[in-house]
Amino acid sequence: MLLDLTELVTGKVREKTYQATLSMETVESQGAVYPVISSDPLNVRVITTGTKKYLVESEGRIVLHIPCGRCLQDVATQVEFQLERELDFEGKADEEHIDDQLEDMSYVDGYHLDLDAMALSEILMNLPYRVLCKEDCKGLCLKCGANLNLGDCGCDRVVLDPRMAAIQDIFKNAMNSNESS
Ligand SMILES: [Zn+2]
Ligand SMILES: [Zn+2]
Repeated sequence: MLLDLTELVTGKVREKTYQATLSMETVESQGAVYPVISSDPLNVRVITTGTKKYLVESEGRIVLHIPCGRCLQDVATQVEFQLERELDFEGKADEEHIDDQLEDMSYVDGYHLDLDAMALSEILMNLPYRVLCKEDCKGLCLKCGANLNLGDCGCDRVVLDPRMAAIQDIFKNAMNSNESS
């Protein structure tokens, strides 16, 4: 959603609160695409802090479908975020802050603030490192791919690592040769 800042930039009002909603349908992170299930309406407060300078403040909550790190089932995952960004329409960034300001103004097109783009950068920073459907998720069978939370597939998963299997074979052979001598 785009917020129209014209009233603020023209000095008609010094402060404005917008009732806004995010319009993104997915959140993409490192090649993965997470569908948005819901997002709370936002109150976005924009305050004049100086000559053509504005502070954007809001906090929100979005619910995404993120696959469980073990069994890959989608988990409804709540991500909270806070917005606190300064916009500077003067554009005369001093050397020290030039990177910050360029980044901030990338959300602005004319007098419109791209709320989704601004919120997205916060949402990405607050994505959980790992999502599990439950603490003791049993994950998938490495042999047949069955979801082990739904029951045992009957596969023999005692030896999962081929290197371990080789060691076990050597051990078995040694035992056998001992017995035969
Ligand atoms: Zn799981
Ligand atoms: Zn299996």
